[in-house]
Amino acid sequence: MSLYKLENVSKIYQNQNQKSYALEQIDLEIEKGEIVVILGPSGSGKSTLLNLLSGIDIPSKGKVYFNDTELNQMTDEELTEYRKNYLGFIFQSYNLIANLTVKENIELGEHLSESPLSIAEMIRAVGLDSHAHKYPFQLSGGQMQRVAIARALVKNPEVLFCDEPTGALDEKTGKKILKTLEDIHKKYHTTMIIVTHNPSIALMANTVIRMNSGHIVEIIHNETVASAESLRWA
Ligand code: ADP
Repeated sequence: MSLYKLENVSKIYQNQNQKSYALEQIDLEIEKGEIVVILGPSGSGKSTLLNLLSGIDIPSKGKVYFNDTELNQMTDEELTEYRKNYLGFIFQSYNLIANLTVKENIELGEHLSESPLSIAEMIRAVGLDSHAHKYPFQLSGGQMQRVAIARALVKNPEVLFCDEPTGALDEKTGKKILKTLEDIHKKYHTTMIIVTHNPSIALMANTVIRMNSGHIVEIIHNETVASAESLRWA
């Protein structure tokens, strides 16, 4: 059984008299424990796909299943529980709370879970031991993203959604973030779904989904997966 299954999914926006397809008849399966990279130019439908998988948005047509449960059939309450219990999110813009320390920001994630991982373990896992009591303004971009990763992962989610996780970072820092994700994946086997413009990141994925104009134009299953450290920004 796949973790996610999409059957004939379309997302249609009606602008005046014109219909536009953000996604058009998508079929897709995502396996548990994979690193999936979704690649494509701006406007190709990547965020729409992410929003449908995470239950933030609903398809105009077709079905989205998580572990054989159709997301469209869930009540709002069930969808909230689904996001709270199973999903973690990180974004290009970190979204940290400015007046909370590193540790307190990570505790926000802990409060969302009934069976959180240890805060100290998460801080260690993302390499921020000596920064636990600092505030976001005292951190570099890469360090802030590592706080966001720890905050998303402390609740031990089954799936981590990463929307342009290295988009605001230079190559060296970006690769450190990817190395952190790689280490976390090795340790916790979290399914990771990473949206990016950066084709270099695709080399570390088990599955690469290339999108264009609302379509999946190619799905590649990598036989060998590159280490984050070996990547070179194209
Ligand atoms: P990407 O994440 O790849 O940049 P998006 O999923 O954000 O692409 O957008 C796909 C297409 O859907 C784009 O053409 C975008 O303009 C359109 N779109 C997204 N959201 C809306 C909306 N709320 N209303 C109308 N069109 C939208």
